[in-house]
Amino acid sequence: MKKPILVTRSSMPPLEEFIEEIKPIWESHWLTNMGVYHERFKEELNQYMGVDHTELFVNGHMALEMTIQAMGLTGEVITTPFTFVSTTHAIVRNGLMPVFCDIRPEDFTMDPSRIEALITERTSAIIPVHVYGNICDVDAIEAIARKHGLKVFYDAAHAFGERYDGKSVGSFGDASMFSFHATKVFHSIEGGAVCYHDPALGKELYKLKNFGILSEEVVDGVGANAKMNEFQAAMGLCNLRHLEEEIGKRKKAALRYQERLSGIPGIRLLTPSAGTESNYAYMPAVFDEEVFGAGRDEIYNRLKARGIGARKYFYPLTSACDCYRGRFFPEETPVALKASHQVLTLPLFAGLETDDVDMICDIVLNRKEI
Ligand SMILES: *Cc1c(COP(=O)(O)O)cnc(C)c1O
Repeated sequence: MKKPILVTRSSMPPLEEFIEEIKPIWESHWLTNMGVYHERFKEELNQYMGVDHTELFVNGHMALEMTIQAMGLTGEVITTPFTFVSTTHAIVRNGLMPVFCDIRPEDFTMDPSRIEALITERTSAIIPVHVYGNICDVDAIEAIARKHGLKVFYDAAHAFGERYDGKSVGSFGDASMFSFHATKVFHSIEGGAVCYHDPALGKELYKLKNFGILSEEVVDGVGANAKMNEFQAAMGLCNLRHLEEEIGKRKKAALRYQERLSGIPGIRLLTPSAGTESNYAYMPAVFDEEVFGAGRDEIYNRLKARGIGARKYFYPLTSACDCYRGRFFPEETPVALKASHQVLTLPLFAGLETDDVDMICDIVLNRKEI
C-alpha cells in the first residue's frame, strides 16, 4: 500500500524562500507585537482581497470570539449547526444563545427563507458560514438583516481567496472571519483575520487582541491576547505568493473527481453556486444509501481500511455535540441533520495527483470490495 492519504495536506512554500523571508527577524530580534511582518501581511491581504480593513489574529477561533465581543452582540444569534464547532463555541463562550437555522439542501449554507421565523426581540445578529467555500445567499441575508436591524458576521473560514458576483468574499456583511490554520487552503501555520467596514470595530478588535492596551500608559479595555506573531505573518506572506498556483492544482484534482463521480446515481457532489470563483477548499460528496447501495459510513470505513482519510465534515452537527446535549436540539434542523449523516469530504489538496483521485474514486465506486 502506498503511504496514507489524509483529507488534506498543508501547503509548504519552498524552504529556501521561507528562510530568506525570516532572516531579517534574527537581525531585528522583533518576534511579535505587530512588527513589520504583521503590518506587511495585513497590507498584502487587503490588496489581495480587495478590501479596506483587515485585523490579524493568532487563529481564526479567537478572531470569531473577539469580533462577536467587539460588535457588542447580545441575547440571541441566528447561526448554522452545519459547521466546525468553533462557530457555535464562539457564540456560547460570549454568553450568547445560538439559535440554529436550517440549511439549503443544494449547498448546505444557511437557508434565508427560514431566518425570519427565528427572529425575536432578543436577536442581535446573524452568523452564517460559507461552508466548504460555498458562498451564502448574501443578498437575501443582507436584506433580512437590514429590515430587522441585525448585524451580519460571516464565518468565512473556508472561503479565503474567493469572489462572488465579482465581489471579494471579505466584503460581505459587517465583518467576515478567515482562518489561516495549517489545514486550510491558505495558511500562516495558525492564524486568522477579520475583514470589516467600520473603523470603530477595527479599533475595538485591536484592543481586544492586545489586552486592551492603547498606549504605554493607557489600558482602555478588558482585552485578552490573540496577536499574530512575526513567524506566522512570514509564513502567510510566503504562502500568499503561491496561492494561485495551489488553487490551480486543487482545481485540477476537483475536476477529476467531478469527471469520475458526477452523474453516478446516489452520489451528489456539492459545488459552489453560479457566480462563485471557487478556491476548491473541499470535495464534499453526499451519499444517498438507498440509491447508491452504500451509505456514508460504509464509504468512510472502506476508504479508511485502504489508508485514505476522508472526513465526516460536518458530523455531528454542532447542536448535537456532547457538550450541548439537552441544550440544543438537532431535530429542529432536519435538512442539516440529514446532511450530517450523508456527507463525506474526500481528500483534496494541491499535491493530490490524478492517479490518487482515480484510486479514491475506484474505492468509492467498487461496492463489492471489503
Ligand atoms: C477552521 C475553522 C474555524 C477556526 O479557525 P482556527 O484558525 O482553526 O481557529 C472556524 N470556523 C470554521 C468553519 C472553520 O473551518
